[in-house]
Amino acid sequence: MTTFVDRVELHVAAGNGGHGCASVHREKFKPLGGPDGGNGGRGGDVTLVVDQSVTTLLDYHHSPHRKATNGKPGEGGNRSGKDGQDLVLPVPDGTVVLDKQGNVLADLVGHGTSYVAAQGGRGGLGNAALASARRKAPGFALLGEPGDGGDVVLELKTVADVALVGYPSAGKSSLISVLSAAKPKIADYPFTTLVPNLGVVTAGATVYTIADVPGLIPGASQGRGLGLEFLRHVERCSVLVHVLDTATLESDRDPVSDLDVIEAELREYGAGLENRPRLVVLNKVDIPDGQDLADLVRPDLEERGYRVFEVSAVAHKGLKELSFALAELVAESRSAKPQEEATRIVIRPKAVDDTGFTVTREEDGGEAVYRVRGEKPERWVRQTDFNNDEAVGYLADRLNRLGVEDELMKAGARAGDGVAIGAEDDAVVFDWEPTMSAGAEMLGRRGEDHRFEAPRPAAQRRRDRDAERDEADQAYDDFKPF
Ligand code: GDP
Ligand code: MG
Repeated sequence: MTTFVDRVELHVAAGNGGHGCASVHREKFKPLGGPDGGNGGRGGDVTLVVDQSVTTLLDYHHSPHRKATNGKPGEGGNRSGKDGQDLVLPVPDGTVVLDKQGNVLADLVGHGTSYVAAQGGRGGLGNAALASARRKAPGFALLGEPGDGGDVVLELKTVADVALVGYPSAGKSSLISVLSAAKPKIADYPFTTLVPNLGVVTAGATVYTIADVPGLIPGASQGRGLGLEFLRHVERCSVLVHVLDTATLESDRDPVSDLDVIEAELREYGAGLENRPRLVVLNKVDIPDGQDLADLVRPDLEERGYRVFEVSAVAHKGLKELSFALAELVAESRSAKPQEEATRIVIRPKAVDDTGFTVTREEDGGEAVYRVRGEKPERWVRQTDFNNDEAVGYLADRLNRLGVEDELMKAGARAGDGVAIGAEDDAVVFDWEPTMSAGAEMLGRRGEDHRFEAPRPAAQRRRDRDAERDEADQAYDDFKPF
């Protein structure tokens, strides 16, 4: 099967976050004025936005790699780095976003509806933001996080009011070009029969869109030829038009049997297509034989309940009647349906629970490795500059506060065992040196003397302390350097 333009694989990369800056303020007579390293800027997102003036995915077919810009690093003097620019990719109304496994991520309907396909990385905090009462002058900053990246598949089910269906060469493309202001190219580039053309028709007070659906052939609903690829286009249209060729040179075809074949395909496909209001167009009546055949089959078609229009796309005959009849059907179907959905924003769903983490024991050639998985620990590792001991110490503190050390201990880890944080192909591995957290229990916080406080049971003290720590940690995680 030929590549189909309205299904593209798009490779998106959001911008990386800029690194935080570690810097110390210097002034005459005030040699150590405190940390003043600014935060890194956020990486730009890649966002898909429905734009009604866009009708195909052709642009992405030609250039499928798209990247947003990175955030700038922070600087001394408390200067934050600039955020990266979001990359906004316009897509046609009705674009469905899927992952490579075929799961639907978003269904973009309605002008302005948007979807964040790749989220920019957070900027790293500078040492000014990392300073606290306990850590007055941090000699490190956090690294910016890499932006999301990956592949998404875009599929377009054209959202048109009217779909023209019929055998190849029945005259669908010609009809749309004469009915509408849009002039689709006919047969001069290889995608002609594959790309549905979209036209805008004005008939009286009604403006509607009309889609030229690539040729139907017997067996399409079973996937023959372009089969299901194009039947997807018809699905959302509210009115169907059978374009029947009265001048075909194929001896085993005539308008009535052509209609039967197409109807059978629509029924087979299901999706409610069989219930759409429809009418019949007998095209090419400018040809004398065509007119004769039209006269012959017309009563038969009318007997089946169809409204029949004799037209010629070439001689511009019968077009006005047809376009007004369609406008009427479209208006009816619109008033029966609720108005267009309001603009929605679809945010990429978070894949995992982002508060917890897991520790699992694995064997690696006889040696025990403890693997830690979880959004927070993995993010913290990405933010750590492993060339800086203080930064590594800060990471150890954060992991400890989250309870990673306790869990490692419970899982049986001992000093010197390997600990891997992250997925198999993307983990940071180190030998575990447990920090001595026992004993810390005995010490009060600086500036407090717990002898003056009412005695609290140890368990209560521990809970209180944990609550305080969680709060500090949450404050960090909520911190967005915009
Ligand atoms: P589609 O495959 O259904 O889109 O058909 P096209 O619009 O590409 O038309 C197929 C061929 O039929 C082209 O050569 C057209 O010029 C021709 N054609 C379309 N409409 C008419 C018509 O009303 N009269 C005549 N004589 N030829 C037509
Ligand atoms: Mg065509």
